[in-house]
Amino acid sequence: MKHNFGAGPCILPKEVFQEASQAVLDFDNTGLSILEISHRSKEFEAVVIETERLVRELLNVPHGYSVLFLQGGASQQFAMVPMNILPEGAKAAYLDTGVWASKAAKEAKKVGQVEVVASSSDRNYCYVPKGYEIPSDAAYFHFTSNNTIYGTEVFETPKASIPIVVDMSSDILSRNINVADYDLIYAGAQKNMGPAGVTLVIIKDDLFGKSGRTLPTIFGYEAHAKAGSMYNTPPVFSIYVSMLNLRWLKAKGGIAVIEQENIVKARTLYDEIERNPYFRGTADVADRSRMNVTFVMDTPELEAEFLALAKERNLIGIKGHRSVGGFRASIYNALSIGSINALVDAMQEFEEGKK
Ligand code: PMP
Repeated sequence: MKHNFGAGPCILPKEVFQEASQAVLDFDNTGLSILEISHRSKEFEAVVIETERLVRELLNVPHGYSVLFLQGGASQQFAMVPMNILPEGAKAAYLDTGVWASKAAKEAKKVGQVEVVASSSDRNYCYVPKGYEIPSDAAYFHFTSNNTIYGTEVFETPKASIPIVVDMSSDILSRNINVADYDLIYAGAQKNMGPAGVTLVIIKDDLFGKSGRTLPTIFGYEAHAKAGSMYNTPPVFSIYVSMLNLRWLKAKGGIAVIEQENIVKARTLYDEIERNPYFRGTADVADRSRMNVTFVMDTPELEAEFLALAKERNLIGIKGHRSVGGFRASIYNALSIGSINALVDAMQEFEEGKK
């Protein structure tokens, strides 16, 4: 058995893969593949409706918010957010916590003005800035709740008098959030929601048309909302597999249950990193992510040796991102505690082998 610690696309539950593969052959006893049915068929309409209902139920989305399934990944949201809610001549406030956060700010700069309220670039993004001020004259404040590359996470929603926009690509559905604390949430699906190809957007309806700009229809949130995410052909298969994955999460007991599991998984791994003299965590303890655990060793030769052992033990995808080095274990919802234990065992085996 492979233990998949990949950062995304990443592990999804085995039963989801099984059901999805069955639907490729025969979707819901229609005698047709999910890949060939019309997105306008009543069978697929039911899929979109159920997927939206599951998102609303699992995240407790209040009235007045639209739930959209779009394409173009989180990267397209870097552009759509300012196009839709940053008026001509206005500025937006961004928190810089790493590559994805700064890419989001960079795209917004192409649309209007951007003020970076704080940055943790001084220590290679190993922490989340605190105590910064959010300007009340900005059109919105944008931050990234989980920094996939650096292994930091923002657990406390910043308070602001202006709309709050969050990139939750790598921690959505992993812990309880209060959707009402945000005005716009977006997330590429390919971590905890489903396969790559669909992007979840949860937007407060009063943000529609906020920028006052004339946009190509496809880039406006309102057109997608009015069409129930069917303005054009949606990513049919990605939405379908997301629905199966959301059903899995619901059957498990929902966010409250998965959050407890995620806490235990992260703690188990961080405890070993702290205990084992060969490894060192890279993120400040207060800001450590429950989704992406980043750690290093003191010499590159030892790192290569541990990677070889990991490979032998079927631990996949733990090589760190090039901008941090070392290792990154992405421990998303579908990764079991058994896989965490397999990694911890390999770390202990490595230590023993050095005695
Ligand atoms: N934001 C975050 C936090 C991410 O982790 C990623 C991708 N891993 C992105 C944005 C970019 O997402 P996409 O590839 O869907 O555009």
